[in-house]
Amino acid sequence: MAPEIKFTKLFINGQFVDSQSGKTFPVVNPATGKVICQVSEGDKADIDLAVDAANEAFQLGSTWRTMDASARGRMMDKLVGLMERDLHYLAQLETYNNGKPLKDAVFDIYGAMYALKYYSGWADKIHGQSIPADGNVFVVTRKEPVGVAGQIIPWNFPLLMLAWKWGPALAAGCTIVMKPAEQTPLTALYMAQLSVEAGFPPGVINVVNGFGATAGAALASHDRVQKIAFTGSTAVGKLIMEAAAKSNLKRVSLELGGKSPIVVFPDVDLDKAVATCHAAVFANMGQCCCAGTRTFVHESIYDKFVEKATELARKRKLGDPFGEVDQGPQVSELQFNRIMALIEAGKKEGADLKTGGMKHGTEGYFIEPTVFVDVQDNMRIAKEEIFGPVQQIMKFSTMEEVIKRANDTHYGLAAGILTNDINRALTFSQAVNAGSVWVNCFLHITSQTPFGGFKQSGIGREMGEEGIHSYVEVKTVTISMAKF
Ligand code: ADP
Repeated sequence: MAPEIKFTKLFINGQFVDSQSGKTFPVVNPATGKVICQVSEGDKADIDLAVDAANEAFQLGSTWRTMDASARGRMMDKLVGLMERDLHYLAQLETYNNGKPLKDAVFDIYGAMYALKYYSGWADKIHGQSIPADGNVFVVTRKEPVGVAGQIIPWNFPLLMLAWKWGPALAAGCTIVMKPAEQTPLTALYMAQLSVEAGFPPGVINVVNGFGATAGAALASHDRVQKIAFTGSTAVGKLIMEAAAKSNLKRVSLELGGKSPIVVFPDVDLDKAVATCHAAVFANMGQCCCAGTRTFVHESIYDKFVEKATELARKRKLGDPFGEVDQGPQVSELQFNRIMALIEAGKKEGADLKTGGMKHGTEGYFIEPTVFVDVQDNMRIAKEEIFGPVQQIMKFSTMEEVIKRANDTHYGLAAGILTNDINRALTFSQAVNAGSVWVNCFLHITSQTPFGGFKQSGIGREMGEEGIHSYVEVKTVTISMAKF
């Protein structure tokens, strides 16, 4: 089943090149723990070269800057067409490197294609206004690309996150230096090759593999990078913002962690509610920043809910992600260890472990679907992002109480409510501090709708029209009118 690995170097100025240091690092198959291949390890010197290339491609008069905006859009469409052509290969590569079940990888790639397609349509629709300003002047605003965009992405949705970042940047006319997560560089490198085939001029898209503290930090603190877009942990988001401020005040957009609540009232179909809450936390091996990891269940249905949620978790099929399974391995040994430590903390602090809690199998980083009940708000498993297949079920009595508890976190990425009472749904939607609120659904994310966090879940929004904003500067051009 193993797909052939075609690209392992850095992609700078339209070419695959070795790193300046000549160093490489291993990429691991999380289903087995075995090394897939070595890829070039970029650091500051390589980031410098990539930023030079991206700046060169952004010069006024360059092919990219003089191209019609509509032609930029068509080039993006061409890229989408190439992804569709190679969908099977891309999905296999994603599964091999990330461990997600093949059907999930296919789903992600469709999501990535929709995102790029959505933004390709924006390319020639990003325009300013003419404004009736005071004085004898003619005033227009222009929305210009911000310049070189640094983009640092995580390993949980390698291709999808790439598309979320490339889409608005290319539509706006920026050039890109991307650093994929060190765990999952392979699909990004293949996409770099597809960008050549689609016709993107050299330097418009660069991909530098490497580690956060070296390549990532060099990008975040680079003086000739005008914007940094980051998705990852809140701790690293703070470092990125600090680096941006200390260097050149580059524009920053951050999509960070979460500890999202999902609230279940008794007026809904119980089986459907259980299934929605299950998918909310277990999707993608629990490795979603907006996962519904605090399941608040009304006291009147609590016992039945717990029984059914436990049963559903037990039924979840784990195994080889190339097989017919619901769940593959966690992405890395480090993540595996972090999750197991939090499961131990849950046990120690007195939460009731209903199912799971153990390593699954003998190789790879598989963790059994785990359900904790009677979880208290002050336990670590109720406060910290676990990023694994671990559900926390808590009991509540009133709307007032649950709103307070839902908001009692420094995160604010997403929230959900399951109820058929419109007043409850509206009250909760207004009161909860979260960038996405889902009513009678969860994880419903689309290209057209803004996504991002309140509080320490981030800054700015990606996707939708909002997603364009952080890739453009607004320029006001004031022209004095001649008097007749
Ligand atoms: P995780 O802990 O889940 O791997 P991180 O936030 O550490 O999440 O990683 C997300 C991305 O941020 C990765 O591409 C990683 O290499 C990068 N990264 C990590 N540390 C830094 C840093 N100090 N500066 C810039 N990027 C970083």
